[in-house]
Amino acid sequence: MDFKTDYAKERYELLHPAVKELLIIADKWSLERRKKPLVLTETVTDAKKDKAEGRESPSHREGRAVDIRVKDWTEKEISAFVAFLNEKYLYLGYIRKKTGKRILAYLHGEGDDRHVHLAIGIDVAEKYKKSYPNWKSPLTIKTNKSSQEKEK
Ligand SMILES: [Zn+2]
Repeated sequence: MDFKTDYAKERYELLHPAVKELLIIADKWSLERRKKPLVLTETVTDAKKDKAEGRESPSHREGRAVDIRVKDWTEKEISAFVAFLNEKYLYLGYIRKKTGKRILAYLHGEGDDRHVHLAIGIDVAEKYKKSYPNWKSPLTIKTNKSSQEKEK
């Protein structure tokens, strides 16, 4: 697995373990199908970054979501990848407000920003809490400036 930025790489560790497990499967898919590892363009963000980038969903800062680069993939590869994740692991997905339906992965953005947003549900993270007793929500970890500022 590769990362677009050091920021994304460093904060990979903060991801919910179920997302990491999915990424191992997704990376394997990419290696088999495309002979290349996945490139993650975003992992766990913080409130400051979300605000700066106009990100409305809290899924990244909650450690439930990652963005996977697909700008250099063929349309066929993208649709096969999204279908693979959504068919096999839909139960781990989140419920979209727009449709009221569960989804795990979807194609997002334009041009250079084109990526697959993969996110597990709030209820999923809650449900698997006992399976991962050592995982802590990134929102509760005060390591960065923005969260300290927010406390004041
Ligand atoms: Zn995203």
